[in-house]
Amino acid sequence: TKWVYSFGAGRNEGRAELRDLLGGKGANLAEMAGIGLPVPPGFTITTEVCTAFYDNGRRYPDELDAQVQEALARVEEAVGLGFGDPAKPLLVSVRSGARVSMPGMMDTVLNLGLNDETVEGLATSSGDARFAWDSYRRFIQMYGSVVLGVGHHHFEEIIEDVKNELNTLEDTDLDADAWRQVVLSYKDLVERETSAPFPQDPTAQLWGAIGAVFGSWMNPRANTYRRLNDIPASWGTAVNVQAMVFGNMGEDCATGVCFTRDPSTGENAFYGEYLVNAQGEDVVAGIRTPQPMSQARAKPGELSMEAVLPDAYRDLLAVRDTLERHYRDMQDIEFTVQQNKLYMLQTRSGKRTAAAALRIAIEMAQEGRISHEEAIGRITPSSLDQLLHPTLDPKAERTVISRGLPASPGAAAGAIVFTADEVESRAQRGEAVILVRIETSPEDVHGMHAARGVLTTRGGMTSHAAVVARGMGRVCVAGCGGVRVDYKAQTLTAGSHVLKAGDWITLDGSTGEVFAGRVATIEPTLSGDFATLMGWADSLRRMKVRANAETPEDAETARRFGAEGIGLCRTEHMFFAPERIGIVRQMIMAGSEAARAKALEQLLPFQRDDFAALFRIMAGLPVTIRLLDPPLHEFLPHTDADLLSVAEGLGQSLDALRERHAALQESNPMLGHRGCRLGITFPEIYAMQARAIFEAAILVAGETGSPVVPEVMIPLVGTARELELTRAEVDRVAKEVIAKAGVALDYQVGTMIELPRAALTADAIAQHADFFSFGTNDLTQTTFGLSRDDAGGFLPRYIEREIWPRDPFVTIDREGVGALVEIAVAKGRGRKPGLKLGVCGEHGGDPASIAFCEEAGLDYVSCSPFRVPIARLAAAQAAM
Ligand code: ADP
Ligand code: MG
Ligand code: MG
Repeated sequence: TKWVYSFGAGRNEGRAELRDLLGGKGANLAEMAGIGLPVPPGFTITTEVCTAFYDNGRRYPDELDAQVQEALARVEEAVGLGFGDPAKPLLVSVRSGARVSMPGMMDTVLNLGLNDETVEGLATSSGDARFAWDSYRRFIQMYGSVVLGVGHHHFEEIIEDVKNELNTLEDTDLDADAWRQVVLSYKDLVERETSAPFPQDPTAQLWGAIGAVFGSWMNPRANTYRRLNDIPASWGTAVNVQAMVFGNMGEDCATGVCFTRDPSTGENAFYGEYLVNAQGEDVVAGIRTPQPMSQARAKPGELSMEAVLPDAYRDLLAVRDTLERHYRDMQDIEFTVQQNKLYMLQTRSGKRTAAAALRIAIEMAQEGRISHEEAIGRITPSSLDQLLHPTLDPKAERTVISRGLPASPGAAAGAIVFTADEVESRAQRGEAVILVRIETSPEDVHGMHAARGVLTTRGGMTSHAAVVARGMGRVCVAGCGGVRVDYKAQTLTAGSHVLKAGDWITLDGSTGEVFAGRVATIEPTLSGDFATLMGWADSLRRMKVRANAETPEDAETARRFGAEGIGLCRTEHMFFAPERIGIVRQMIMAGSEAARAKALEQLLPFQRDDFAALFRIMAGLPVTIRLLDPPLHEFLPHTDADLLSVAEGLGQSLDALRERHAALQESNPMLGHRGCRLGITFPEIYAMQARAIFEAAILVAGETGSPVVPEVMIPLVGTARELELTRAEVDRVAKEVIAKAGVALDYQVGTMIELPRAALTADAIAQHADFFSFGTNDLTQTTFGLSRDDAGGFLPRYIEREIWPRDPFVTIDREGVGALVEIAVAKGRGRKPGLKLGVCGEHGGDPASIAFCEEAGLDYVSCSPFRVPIARLAAAQAAM
């Protein structure tokens, strides 16, 4: 077996595609050498050695030793030095490198090969004794701490002692003799700590370092990191051994790290830091202040590499261009300059912010380096979230008082208010307010809507507050246990901070942080690069993207974000408004049909206005309106005062109402009297809603002169007959309204598919449906027999034990729920070939689920307004 691959040493055996075998670092070193960039020669011991090592009781493969010797000889030949040669010593670095860069792995050891003899040879051959002894002490320090496990601080203390003795503060003030003294003390230290002298044999040093790299693959830090990031232990790490080049040989030497473009903004400008006369990690170690690359970015007093080492800088600019052309992506590179000559030590695709990723992808496509498809493919859809919401001004001062769950992204500031009603009235006066609750319930929804942000002290990422806030695009920090809310005293306490109602706070829903006072925020921009990306995505996707929206505000947001209609308008959300809930309660509690009819009559104009407003905003785009769905008890009066006012409205006795109230209680409301079961038992409710829809459609079509085609959706159908009956009622109302208005009106009637039985009998149901919309939230609940509101208690354990790969309410369960969807698609379209199909649940905004919808052949996905751009991008990626 081939266990060792040379790079840059006469032979170049690796390349970028061999990443799995050579690790990221090794594969890219070979790739760079292969395209003619100046890479110090070396070799990579493959990840397979690591795996073999652990499979065989920590023993190396037999051929390894010979292969390493051979590769090392090739390096010696390439640079004209000898490993352990006292006159012309070859020094090497030993570097770990897994497939993906992994903190927790062994730190790099530099200058390996130095000992008491070779250090003299290095001093003579370089003509610089200080450099030689500085390198030796660096080596003992690194090898001592990294390989031999001697505490880092011991080494630091010795340097401090020497500096004190010589009365100086800077490393640069220490001369050859000072470093020689440091080396003596270091060797004593190592001998004391490890009960053995510092290893003098370069070959022993090399195998010690190689063993430490492989050993570090299984250290606790690396294990933890792998577990958190789903990296299998079987991948293994590679080891890179590479000839040293020296950035610490004098003023014409340097070392640095940089990005080929600005990783925070994406600007096409060279970005990075370097240090003159320095080695390895000095740049990031913070001992000396690194300097900027380009003169344009240098502040007064700074010395740019462009000014100090102009030749090497020019070479580096050329390398930057070569690398970008070759890799066709922004690179993160490490380099060293030895006596004005540039060497490349690493390249990899650079980490970047969401904003930078966007700009880089767009500009690289515009520069002709990548295609539009590639640009689209490079943006992680969920990362757009960061670009769609206001963010904290990075320059603004802030005081964090607590931290909860980042439940709904964006930043918002406002005055503390503890009740939904007060939030609403203050918001109507134009005030910026934050709703602060221990937890929220459906009755708080109007307040959540009016607030800039929501803070709760209880509940998780799928708590009511979190789900509703995300849906609205409202900033939310949930489950902030460090905050205590006292409704009576109207105070919010976080540690030593006691804030009163009316005091300002700021929330960052992307991080979960809570700040005292007002922190300035920056508005997102939807033009420029963002608009360009969306345009490309739109031309590549097949599925349409609609939004779930019921308020005019949400509908407008949805259109701004490019929604192509409303896929789900939840009419019950319209029932909670303060001026309506009283009437809704009368309708539910009514003892007679006449009393119910009276209440419904009062609700009709409200509903008609609601729908008209949506139709106007959506201007001819399809609008799917779901008739009343939730269990009645959600609307029931809670307090005696509420009950009394309903009694008065209905002219009934309080006792009679109490009885009815009790009769309406259910033990399993989500599986109880809801959805079309309401429409079947109280046909007049659906009739009123249908009337409001059709009257509004005719009204708006008349205003605008262009047709409105409402899509009426019946929820929770499980049997074809349910749809047949409710549809008949809707058709009857339509006929009546149309006849009365004397105009034409097209409309559609369809159903949610959200019960397993509906999916399994979709052919029969399709006979009565113009469209299906998969309600995957309920379909997930009913398929798993699992209540979303109660899953929090055990879901984390299920994910951890890998019973479920992910939260099935976030990403669709393809095997179970997905199979039902596929059955319904096949049966539905089998019966009715043109049947329109969409998804409306939370999954409609989840990229992995959107990929499933594409495969299943759905016509559209519908998601909350703020996720529309994410869905547009994900739908494009799914179609590519
Ligand atoms: P990390 O993965 O932590 O970045 P590296 O293996 O890249 O570790 O090594 C860290 C630094 O050590 C490099 O950026 C470079 O400055 C220095 N280094 C590594 N190998 C060499 C070498 N052959 N010659 C000079 N410096 C080197
Ligand atoms: Mg590195
Ligand atoms: Mg449902």
